[in-house]
Amino acid sequence: MKLKIVALAGGVGGAKLVHGLAQILPPEDLTVVVNTGDDFEHYSLYICPDLDTVCYTLAGLANPETGWGRVDETWQAIENAVRLGGPEWFNLGDRDLGTHLERTRRLKAGQTLSQITRDFCKSWGIRQTILPMSDHPVRTIVETGEGDLAFQEYFVHRRCEPKVTGFRFEGVETAEAAPGVLEAIDAAEAVIICPSNPWVSIDPILVVGDIRRAIEAKTIVAVSPIIGGQTVKGPAAKMYAELDIQPSARAVAEHYRGMLSGFVLDNMDAELASNINIPTLTTDTLMDSLTKRARLARDVLNFIRRINK
Ligand code: GDP
Repeated sequence: MKLKIVALAGGVGGAKLVHGLAQILPPEDLTVVVNTGDDFEHYSLYICPDLDTVCYTLAGLANPETGWGRVDETWQAIENAVRLGGPEWFNLGDRDLGTHLERTRRLKAGQTLSQITRDFCKSWGIRQTILPMSDHPVRTIVETGEGDLAFQEYFVHRRCEPKVTGFRFEGVETAEAAPGVLEAIDAAEAVIICPSNPWVSIDPILVVGDIRRAIEAKTIVAVSPIIGGQTVKGPAAKMYAELDIQPSARAVAEHYRGMLSGFVLDNMDAELASNINIPTLTTDTLMDSLTKRARLARDVLNFIRRINK
């Protein structure tokens, strides 16, 4: 199918739809802009969880069971580090470590995250364009009843237990879109907001000022990460509930209010569609197989074609 698309993505949910899109669109027609608000340093290494999830997935290197990390992974390096007294709350696999080592080495030598990502994609045989949202650090801070927590502290170390009261994106005031992001948006016929966590995977991208302004004039379609009031994985539904918003596909549509040209929700939520006052597509949005990733991608692209007519 010929359609120039920019997809905004976080990690696991985003990567699944991106993988589906990659099976249908020519590689030159798909650019993925990935959240870097979750990036952090651990063991003095620079780790980009969402970028790596998207890249490993497209390269066929991802662990199919977890959706993140690498297939055929071993854990000897981290086990050894922990035995020596190192922090144990974030697991780094041996193969994955190679990525962080080389990324950190290049950053220290003065390369930008977008240059490094481009080189890594080439080495992994990824033909689509994968871009970090920004080369400037933007850090998602989760505000909780127990104080402010850096995203990975909240997500991994504290297992999403503290009650969320809000979010902040440190550094966003001065952050600019990474090279290539605005050009890709300008050339795109539509922007797809993947079924990623709206609060901590998509909002960090949307608050980068020049990205927000660039997508304003575009056809934007979002796919709900919430099915039947629940997330497939992760804390998005819990976050809505703690912020006193009933978690639902409708709440996701509300979240992106004023931006969207269309919204995609699951068959299970069909009765919510009539309360969403933009064009909707109701379909099977659970991507629990490779075929279903491609099928949802095709449905979303056909929906965009109808909207763009
Ligand atoms: P993370 O950074 O790895 O948490 O990645 P994302 O934010 O991209 O993904 C988490 C979101 O993806 C959760 O809110 C899930 O509900 C959603 N998700 C995961 N798998 C699926 C799926 O198969 N279909 C849909 N519609 N959403 C999914």
